[in-house]
Amino acid sequence: MPDIRENLAAVRARLDEACEAAGRAPDEVEVLLATKTQPAARIAEAIAAGARLIGENRVQELAAKDAELSGLPCERHFIGHLQSNKVNQVLRYVSCVQSVDGVELADRLQRRLEALGQTLDVLVQVNTSGEASKSGVAPDDAVAVVKEVATRDRLRVRGLMTVGLQSPDDALVRASYRDLRVLRDRAADAVGAALPVLSMGMSGDLEAAVAEGATLVRIGSAVFGARPRTA
Ligand SMILES: *Cc1c(COP(=O)(O)O)cnc(C)c1O
Repeated sequence: MPDIRENLAAVRARLDEACEAAGRAPDEVEVLLATKTQPAARIAEAIAAGARLIGENRVQELAAKDAELSGLPCERHFIGHLQSNKVNQVLRYVSCVQSVDGVELADRLQRRLEALGQTLDVLVQVNTSGEASKSGVAPDDAVAVVKEVATRDRLRVRGLMTVGLQSPDDALVRASYRDLRVLRDRAADAVGAALPVLSMGMSGDLEAAVAEGATLVRIGSAVFGARPRTA
């Protein structure tokens, strides 16, 4: 069994080093644990070891682990593809949906939040790698989508998210993260507000993401160990 506390510390050390190399302050980058397929007890262990942000990809997993996690000092985000028929459910569990991939989903969230009298932090997910298997809006549409979503008064657009390119070529990976930062800067200009959050970088490439301005890295296997292949 991987030692979660030790692994968390190792990730934090990698982040601190990457921040130093990039001339950034270590407290500019937060860790969100990507906890898909992990049992609630393992997640609770990570929270006890200091993890504060948890990200789930499936509403079913949020629901299944809720009884064990809801009382713990953590905040949950949704980071997977959100089906429109799961909008009502997801809002019970999360403080942020990082995977808003179009105006239609934004509108569904907006309508439900209006009914509940609530607001929600959101990120717009951009498909910077262009791979058909990845969700997110096309880079060419990103600024327009952010502008539109920002007019929905129940949604607070905090920034952008990408899964990035999976490639052994570090320069290409960095380029996909740089693209997200450039789009964020343009979107912030377009809406006339800061969009402080750049959610990008995973276990294998957090250094590249930090070098390009990530403020939130989403880490799974570096903390919990390798997932079964089917996940
Ligand atoms: C699983 C997952 C991660 C973390 O991936 P690791 O390589 O295990 O660190 C990050 N983001 C999303 C959206 C994920 O689904």
